Amino acid sequence: MAKRGAVTRFAPSPTGLLHLGHAHSALFAHALAGEGGRFLLRIEDIDRGRCRPEFQAAIHEDLAWLGLRWEAGVRRQSEHMADYARALDALDGMGLVYPCFCTRAEIRAEIVRSGAAPHGPDGPLYPGTCRGLADAAARVAAGESHALRLDMGRAVARAGPLAWHDRGRGRVAARPEIFGDAVLARKDTPTSYHLAVTVDDAIQGVSLVTRGADLFQATHVHRLLQALLGLGVPEYRHHRLLADDKGQRLAKRHDSLAIRRLRERGYTADEVRAMAGIG
Ligand code: GLU
Repeated sequence: MAKRGAVTRFAPSPTGLLHLGHAHSALFAHALAGEGGRFLLRIEDIDRGRCRPEFQAAIHEDLAWLGLRWEAGVRRQSEHMADYARALDALDGMGLVYPCFCTRAEIRAEIVRSGAAPHGPDGPLYPGTCRGLADAAARVAAGESHALRLDMGRAVARAGPLAWHDRGRGRVAARPEIFGDAVLARKDTPTSYHLAVTVDDAIQGVSLVTRGADLFQATHVHRLLQALLGLGVPEYRHHRLLADDKGQRLAKRHDSLAIRRLRERGYTADEVRAMAGIG
């Protein structure tokens, strides 16, 4: 029987020009949608300080120039804050969320003071300073700036053992605790990468999440949020990351490898597709 197509997505942040690494990621997601599948584009623009409309326009142009077509109805995260707020409310109703008033400097100082600094994928783990604060509600009511964190211990206890299927690695047991009390809503934005992506993939019916291997660890947290929120569980496939000739992973600073710059220098779309490792 023919394998049915998947629903995949490419989800860039409009904080700079797309480079060859993005081209690889977009082409990879598009290819894995397969025959009869659907390929979606999502703009991850929750970081208001860094996202720019001109980069968003460039994403559309550069992807179209590469020959990609995506389904109508591009989802822009900045337009869906109500969806993330609903998810946060649900987690809060389970007693799994707490406000964190700490500044970065305070967190650093607390880590030094405690002498123990377990590291997670995003750096040293939050030491839990604000977990269980007696005056938390009063400080929130008084308008004190705060982030919202997941009480990881309680969340993991509630969800029990979890796993996901990764097309590259097979069954992966979820270990969300490696992130500690992850941020669900930032001080400056009422959501976070982990929460927004998990909610969006479910709402958009993404059946196969493809993204770079640098985000492999994030899936541990996403799997936990899916279980807590009763969301469907997609399959995953994490792809290799492109590097420059010195072995450095491609990043925004590699302006010369931006799709737009290559195009300006006369490369054809076919050539750029080949350079991105998917001919
Ligand atoms: N927006 C993320 C990025 O640009 C990708 C999100 C995801 O695929 O989960 O790296």
